[in-house]
Amino acid sequence: MKHYKIAVLAGDGIGPEITREALKVLKLIEERNDVAFELMPAAFGACAYFETGNAFPQATMDICDQADAILKGPIGLSHEESKKIPIDKQPERGALLPMRRRYNTYANFRPVSLPKALAHFSPLKAEIIGEGIDLVIVRELVGGLYFGQKESGVNAQGLRYVKETLEYDELQIRRIMHQAFKLANKRRKLLHNIHKSNVLKSSVLWNEVMEEVAVEYPDVTVHNMLVDSAATALCLNPTQFDVMVMENMFGDILSDQGGGILGSLGLMPSACLGDDKAYYEPSHGSAPDIAGKNIANPYSMIGSVAMMLENSFDMAEEAKNVWAAMQAVFSDGYSTADLSKAGSGVTMISTEQFGDKVVEKLKAMPKVG
Ligand code: NAD
Repeated sequence: MKHYKIAVLAGDGIGPEITREALKVLKLIEERNDVAFELMPAAFGACAYFETGNAFPQATMDICDQADAILKGPIGLSHEESKKIPIDKQPERGALLPMRRRYNTYANFRPVSLPKALAHFSPLKAEIIGEGIDLVIVRELVGGLYFGQKESGVNAQGLRYVKETLEYDELQIRRIMHQAFKLANKRRKLLHNIHKSNVLKSSVLWNEVMEEVAVEYPDVTVHNMLVDSAATALCLNPTQFDVMVMENMFGDILSDQGGGILGSLGLMPSACLGDDKAYYEPSHGSAPDIAGKNIANPYSMIGSVAMMLENSFDMAEEAKNVWAAMQAVFSDGYSTADLSKAGSGVTMISTEQFGDKVVEKLKAMPKVG
């Protein structure tokens, strides 16, 4: 029997609610397969800061260091609540970026997927969705503006100023390009390279390196698109895309738009992969506006489990079953509150009910192997 250690960081806001449902599914996966998961819970984010004075405490680092994979819920507080934590200790700066840096998880995969049968969840017209949306945003996760040098103070004219730098070297660009091209090779052999080379010199280098890497993947067709244009194209013609690769900040913003075209950020899981360590998290934040109400959509967290099964535990077939189980719940006419309005012909279910129904569906599926 295979044995894996998973660090479980439930996080803030809706994090614990959606993590609970993901763990129900993980438990069933253990029962259905020749595998044992040792779950190692640890504090991370604002909850950890209030407990220990540090959003990524040493004890959590130790647990994550030992883990075969990290399952992370969203972290963060509302705009007003955030003010209770000093700026440099706030969850993103104090925990999320340090974790990405510590494990060098440079490749972030964010699937944006909505089968035709679930087109009613999307704000887009059915004719735009066509046969369904199925694309993956590949976001560089440890470079660019978010990781550059930061400086602020008062300048010679007595004005407050801030300076943040956007840096990439060619190795950082090359390794994310290889990830994107490899994925494109496995899918429709189509890669959209998203950039802003008409303004940013970082994008000029980005594109140069992309072209060098492209030579190694002659079967992949590359389309270059400016990021502003890509934002429009995602709304007007999302089915033209299959794999999209972009730098850190562009990926942060466009992937939230990806959630928007599906109908909710609750449909957005992700995998953050480094060469030696990986962590899995919903693309969205801690949703303080709905926390504690048992109405959050746990699809993003359960989907992150599916991505963990495939990428860290070599369980791609069982991962497919998890996706199918979640979609089957929706296809049966159920919806969480983020995706539909009451009276729209669907039956509303809670966070917990969604988790239970996914478990029922998965139980009914043939075991793998
Ligand atoms: P958010 O992503 O938390 O929420 C945006 C909107 O989407 C809200 O209306 C929310 O209710 C909804 N939403 C998000 N996930 C949902 C789900 N699973 N089910 C149903 N609805 C869902 O963004 P925000 O409100 O701007 O940020 C809240 C906090 O999260 C901030 O502190 C921010 O810094 C943090 N954040 C953390 C991460 C992370 O942990 N990786 C990512 C983004 C934002």
